[in-house]
Amino acid sequence: MNKKIIQDFTKDELSEIIKPSFRAKQIYHWIYHKYANSFEEMKNIPKEMREKLEKEYTLTPLKTVMVQNSKDGSRKYLFELHDGHTVEAVLLLMKEKEYHEDGSTKHQERYTVCISSQVGCKVGCAFCLTAKGGFVRNLTSGEIVSQLLMIKKDNDIDANRRVNIVYMGMGEPLDNLENVAKAVKIFADPEGMAIAPHRQTISTSGLSSKIEKLGKMELGINLAISLHAVDDDLRQKLMPINKAYNIKSIITAVKNFPVNDRKRVMFEYLVIKDVNDDISAAKKLLGLLDGIKAKVNLIYFNPYGGTQFKRPEYSDMLKFQEYLTQRGLLCTIRESKGLDISAACGQLREQELNQKGM
Ligand code: SAH
Ligand code: SF4
Repeated sequence: MNKKIIQDFTKDELSEIIKPSFRAKQIYHWIYHKYANSFEEMKNIPKEMREKLEKEYTLTPLKTVMVQNSKDGSRKYLFELHDGHTVEAVLLLMKEKEYHEDGSTKHQERYTVCISSQVGCKVGCAFCLTAKGGFVRNLTSGEIVSQLLMIKKDNDIDANRRVNIVYMGMGEPLDNLENVAKAVKIFADPEGMAIAPHRQTISTSGLSSKIEKLGKMELGINLAISLHAVDDDLRQKLMPINKAYNIKSIITAVKNFPVNDRKRVMFEYLVIKDVNDDISAAKKLLGLLDGIKAKVNLIYFNPYGGTQFKRPEYSDMLKFQEYLTQRGLLCTIRESKGLDISAACGQLREQELNQKGM
């Protein structure tokens, strides 16, 4: 593609390029508040400037190629990039507890959008479908940002409606740290989507050195660690990255990570039947997380064709959860949102590639 992606630019960068600089603010407003599809629509921008922008930039770097609706209201999207590769993103409706000053609480429906950071992934976890196709390329910041923009447009989500972002789609966000960090800032721009960093969560397979680096950036983002195993032997089998960054190095990196006062580091634990679902693992997990402001999120393994792994029993999930909560560790079981639309990322893309005979 010879046109530049306008969503790749922060407002500051745009105001350096487009003069006078207040134009950047106007353009941001058109993109992120009015969901403009063309520069032509930007009526408060002079015509010659609009024409120049139209020649140099694209506003629509993604094309929707598939949408799947789930009974629970979740929607899964497959987007095509300019080079024909595809990535997935999911819109989830979640109940969130809101705390009021008078001490009362209210449950509110909140949108959470799960977005991708790479086409494929280098990490190669044994249970993950995204890993099967290998790594293709990093997404640019604009391609990351546009996933949410497309979903907001498609669902008529008002620009001012609060949305949470989780970087839990395809790819390892910390393996594309520069572009992801820039996307975090573009999302957070008050003149843009205004999604504060504390509403954004980066999930990582545990690249310890990059966790340290992310911490030093002081973005104010939430951190989620895909732990999935409590001893190095098993973790190495499930996640080959553990050879380079073992559990101890991850725990050390997390302890050094700046966590927002009102937040906790989330430890994701993918539960696989007869692999890591016994109480001895819960016991070890409790010890590992000692001294960390942590919460654990148990995830059901979501099976797909050709995998040797199995979904765990509900009763084992409950026992695991109870063991931790009874000992004071916050632990939730992730609702299997959109299971009926093959929720775990990579599945929609796989389906499409199969249809194409690739
Ligand atoms: N690469 C990052 C973020 C993307 S994966 C990471 O690994 O954290 C997001 C989450 O989906 C991870 O916790 C991952 O372990 C989980 N996941 C991968 N395959 C899954 C499957 N088949 N069923 C359920 N969760 C899965
Ligand atoms: Fe990559 Fe995350 Fe899948 Fe592992 S689970 S292969 S890190 S996307």
